[in-house]
Amino acid sequence: MRYPKEIEVWEHAPGRRLVEVVVKIRNEKGALAKCSQVLNDSNVNILTGFFTAPSSSRGAFLSFFADVTDSEGGLTELKKTLQGLDVIESVDGVAAEGGFMVDRQHFPVQWAGRKAVVMRTEALNEMLNRLWAVFGTGAATIIDQMAEAMGRHSAREVVEDFGKRFAVDQIDELIATYSALGYADVSIEKSKSSDFPIVVNARELFECEANAKLKFRRRSGFFRAHLRGFMSGIFGKPLEVSEVQCLTEGDEVCSFRVALSEAAVPSVTSRLAERGARA
Ligand SMILES: [Zn+2]
Repeated sequence: MRYPKEIEVWEHAPGRRLVEVVVKIRNEKGALAKCSQVLNDSNVNILTGFFTAPSSSRGAFLSFFADVTDSEGGLTELKKTLQGLDVIESVDGVAAEGGFMVDRQHFPVQWAGRKAVVMRTEALNEMLNRLWAVFGTGAATIIDQMAEAMGRHSAREVVEDFGKRFAVDQIDELIATYSALGYADVSIEKSKSSDFPIVVNARELFECEANAKLKFRRRSGFFRAHLRGFMSGIFGKPLEVSEVQCLTEGDEVCSFRVALSEAAVPSVTSRLAERGARA
C-alpha cells in the first residue's frame, strides 16, 4: 500500500480562520501527546502539517496549518497555552485573512539535511519536452548526460553521508528514494546482493506516464540515465541501464535492467578532453 505525501505549501479554506503554527518541542516520549491535548482542548482543527524529530537531535518541530474558526481564544490563546507546557521550547504562529495562506515560516526546504527544491512533474516534463522540441534527436544526448550527472551527484552524496559499503548493502532501501521523492513507485527485483543484472521496476514513472498520455512512443530518457548514474556511482563501476518494458509500449510498468557495462564507452568529458588535447 502506498499513501500520497502532501508537502505543506499552502492551505485554502474559504471563510475559515487559518493559522500556521511552528512548535519547538523536546524530542522525548509523550511531548507530542501533550501538544495534541492542548490543541484538542482549544478546539483547534489541525490541517496539513509535519513533524520533524531526528533521532540524533534533542529538539523536534511540529509544524501545521490549523483552522481556528471554532476556537474562542484563537491563535493568541493557543500560543499562550502551548508555551505553558514544560515540553515546549518555543511557539511561533501567524494568522491569515481570507481563508488562504502560504507557508512562509520554513526555509530552506531540505531532505536529509541538504537544500532541495520541490518541482511538479508537469514542470519537469515541460522542461524535457522543450529540449525535445528545440534540439530534436539531440535532446536525447543532453537529457542523458544531464540526468546521469544528477544521478552520480546523488550517489556521491549518499556515499559521503553513509560510506560506500553501507550504500551497496542498503541498495534495496536506497532505491526507494525515487519513490520517496515522487519520481516513480519503485521496487527492485534482486535483493541483498550486488550481483548483476538487477531489475528496477518503476510504476507510474512521471516521464513515461506523460509520454503515454500524449501517445508518444518514447521510452524514458531522464530516469534511465539518472538510474545509471546513481547505480554506477554507488557500486563504483560503469553500469548500463536499458528499459526493457515501458508504459509507452502498453506495458503495465516500466522496467529497467541494470547490468555491468560490457564496453566502457568514453564519457563526454573524456571525449572533450581528448579533442582538446588534439587541438
Ligand atoms: Zn517507460
